[in-house]
Amino acid sequence: MNSYDRIYNFSAGPSMLPLEVLETVQADLLNYKGSGQSVMEMSHRSKEYQRIIDEAEADLRELMNIPDNYKVLFLQGGGTLQFSMVPLNLLRNSKKADYVVTGTWAKKAYKEATKFGDIRVIASSEADTFTWVPKITADDVRPDADYVYITTNNTIYGTKFNYVPETGDIPLVADMSSNILSEELDVTKFGVIWAGAQKNVAPAGVTIVIIREDLIGHAPAEAPTYLDYKIHADNGSMYNTPPAFAIYVAGEVFKYLKSIGGIKEMERRNVEKAQMLYDYIDQSRLFSCPVAKEDRSIMNVVFVTGDADLDKKFVAEAKEAGLVNLAGHRSIGGMRASIYNAMPKEGVEALIEFMKKFEENK
Ligand SMILES: *Cc1c(COP(=O)(O)O)cnc(C)c1O
Repeated sequence: MNSYDRIYNFSAGPSMLPLEVLETVQADLLNYKGSGQSVMEMSHRSKEYQRIIDEAEADLRELMNIPDNYKVLFLQGGGTLQFSMVPLNLLRNSKKADYVVTGTWAKKAYKEATKFGDIRVIASSEADTFTWVPKITADDVRPDADYVYITTNNTIYGTKFNYVPETGDIPLVADMSSNILSEELDVTKFGVIWAGAQKNVAPAGVTIVIIREDLIGHAPAEAPTYLDYKIHADNGSMYNTPPAFAIYVAGEVFKYLKSIGGIKEMERRNVEKAQMLYDYIDQSRLFSCPVAKEDRSIMNVVFVTGDADLDKKFVAEAKEAGLVNLAGHRSIGGMRASIYNAMPKEGVEALIEFMKKFEENK
């Protein structure tokens, strides 16, 4: 076992955090850097806290190479509130938006948006249980659409966009809840990027929104104040009390990512981990991955034995071996190993070893 008898947690979210970060948080917990208090108890209007949030933003900007004409917001309401905030703020001209439906979260986002305007699904892989990701081009998009919406990584189905759709002048909006900071990315290709933190960044409670400045300030007058991006942009994410502790932990994760060599190194590690696992599954006679090869996620690896009872047995026995939360989403069953940034290579190796033994003993 690894230190502190920690298990390998393959949960889709909330999920593992880097041990180094947890140790820093533990050391800071009772007395944050000589302030005599924990971050949980600190006024968000204090100098100490202002430094924490400013550094978190600066480090995220550095890691993702976010240009100056984008705002970085730390909001509440989870990923789900963005399903409403995006259409409320971005349906600013034609009130039309085009959605690519590649999984449950994308579908929820689409459904929510239909409350606000003329929303169209321009591509979907639902008929094939979302096992692949459609290729869309500028021709698929309505020329007067206010934005195009995608989900870059499909947490439940284990797929990802392996390309950034070309949408011309129409802003591309992306839900990156389950793959933000996992690989290098050109932020300038997007109008809005957002992510709930509890998959790849921090504990639950904070949602990161990266938004181009010209897309701010278009919420209708009757929009609830909290749901207007402008109020948060104008107030440095401190219009009201922010999720202070979650932002602090996110900041420590950003510092950790910088210390290992940034997103480039994180991507190298993620690709290596995912490759190891897919390589094993692809040669296995027992396990298989239902997802189209070119669209496979490097964050959520979905696999099955083809026998639902055997899948259950696998999940139960893995748990006893310290490999927990390997059941697939309740909507599709099977298995899913979420191997986000914080899952060490040793965790994936331990999973593969366990799968080999299970296969041999079957
Ligand atoms: C988990 C998830 C969500 C929902 O996040 P909540 O914070 O639970 O609202 C949205 N989109 C994707 C891609 C997710 O993985």
